Amino acid sequence: MAPRSGDVAKLIHPVVVLGGGIAGAAAALRLTQGNAQPVWIAADRAETFKPGEHLSASAIPMLKTLGLDSVLQSEVHRHAHSTYSAWGSDTLIERNSIVQLEGPPTVLDRGAFEDALALQAVASGAQRIYRDIVNVRIIDGQWHLETTSDLIKAGFVFDATGRKAIIASKFSPRFQADKLCCQYALFQSEEFQTPRPVTLIQAEERGWWYMSVLADARVILNFYTDADLPRIDPTAFEQSARATHSISAYLEDYGYKSCGLPKRITTNSSWIAPTIGAGWAAIGDASAAFDPLSSHGMTTALWSAIKATDAFLMQDREKMESYAESVAKGVQDYLTEKNQVYCRESRWPRSSFWARRQTGSTKPA
Ligand SMILES: Cc1cc2nc3c(=O)[nH]c(=O)nc-3n(C[C@H](O)[C@H](O)[C@H](O)COP(=O)(O)OP(=O)(O)OC[C@H]3O[C@@H](n4cnc5c(N)ncnc54)[C@H](O)[C@@H]3O)c2cc1C
Repeated sequence: MAPRSGDVAKLIHPVVVLGGGIAGAAAALRLTQGNAQPVWIAADRAETFKPGEHLSASAIPMLKTLGLDSVLQSEVHRHAHSTYSAWGSDTLIERNSIVQLEGPPTVLDRGAFEDALALQAVASGAQRIYRDIVNVRIIDGQWHLETTSDLIKAGFVFDATGRKAIIASKFSPRFQADKLCCQYALFQSEEFQTPRPVTLIQAEERGWWYMSVLADARVILNFYTDADLPRIDPTAFEQSARATHSISAYLEDYGYKSCGLPKRITTNSSWIAPTIGAGWAAIGDASAAFDPLSSHGMTTALWSAIKATDAFLMQDREKMESYAESVAKGVQDYLTEKNQVYCRESRWPRSSFWARRQTGSTKPA
C-alpha cells in the first residue's frame, strides 16, 4: 500500500524519482508496474506551453511497453506525414512518411502528452509529491531530499530533472559539444482556412529555423543559433521569420501572426559520464540531451526510463552498467550523426555558427 503523504518524511523510501517531465513520468510508471511503489517528486509544469513536439515513430514500441498504446490516438496530436527541409540549398525537399518503415512521427500537444503519462503513473500507484527539491545530501548512505516543506529519505534515486541533473551533476562531469540555444514563439491565424499540416526546417546564415503546425492549427516557430552568437532581437522575431526563404510564404499564405515575444531556452548537446553511480541513475536529458534537430530527446527519455528502471527492478548491477554503456555509445553515435548532418550545409563558411560545425570533430568542447 502506498504511504500517506504525512508519512513521507518518516519513511526511507526504497526508490524516489525526481522530475516531472517525460523521463520522470515514464520511470514512475514503470516502477509501479514492477510493484516498486515509487515516490515521484514532480511539481506542476510552470510553463503553459512546452516546446519539443516532434515525437519519432521509434517511441511507439516504448509507449506500448509502458501500456500507453492509446495515448497518441487523441486528436490533440497529429501525424507528421511530411516534413520539408531546405538544408544545403534553398530547395525544399520533402521527407514523406510513406517511405519511413516505422510509420509517421507525431506532432504532439506536448502538455497533453506529459499530462497523460503523469495521470497513468499516478493511477498505477506512484505517490506524486508536487514540489521541487531544494537541497540534496547523503547521510549514512541514504539520500536526504529536501523540498520546500518536507525531508524525503530514499535508498535509490532516479534523476530525471532534465539538464539541471540535480543529483547526477554532483557526481559526474557534464560534457557539452556545442552551445545551441533556441528562441521560440507561437503563431496564430484568424483566417477561416485549414492550414496544411506541415513541418518545415530551413537553414540560414545565422543558424536554422523550424516550423510546425500543431493539431490545433497554431504554429510553433523556433530559431536556433549558438548562445554566444547574436540572438534575434525579440521584437524583430516575427519580421525575421517573414524574411526567410520558405517559412515566410507559409506564414503569409495562411495569415499567421505571432502570439507574443519569443522565449529563449538552452538546447545544447550535453551529457554526463558516467550516467549511474552509487544509489542513483540519471535518465532523460539529465543523462544526455540532444540537439532538437535529431528528434531524439523524447524517445531517449522514454527509452532510458524503461531501461534503467528495469535494471533497478531486477536489482541487476550488470544491467544497470549495460544501461550506462548504452547511453555512452548512443552519445558517440549521435555526435557522429550530428556532425554529418551539419556538414551537409556548407553555404556560409564565414558564418561562425556553420564554421564551428564544419570540423567533423566528435570531441566534446
Ligand atoms: C526548444 C526545444 C525543442 C525540442 N524539440 C524536440 C523534438 O522535436 N523532439 C524530441 O524528441 N525532443 C525535442 N526536444 C527535447 C525534449 O524536449 C527533451 O529531450 C525532453 O523534454 C527530455 O525529457 P526529461 O523528462 O528528461 O526532461 P525535462 O522535460 O526537462 O523535465 C525535467 C523535469 O525536472 C524538473 N526539475 C528540474 N529541477 C528540479 C528540482 N530541483 N526538483 C524537482 N524537479 C525538478 C523540471 O521542472 C521538469 O519537470 C526539444 C527541446 C527543446 C528545448
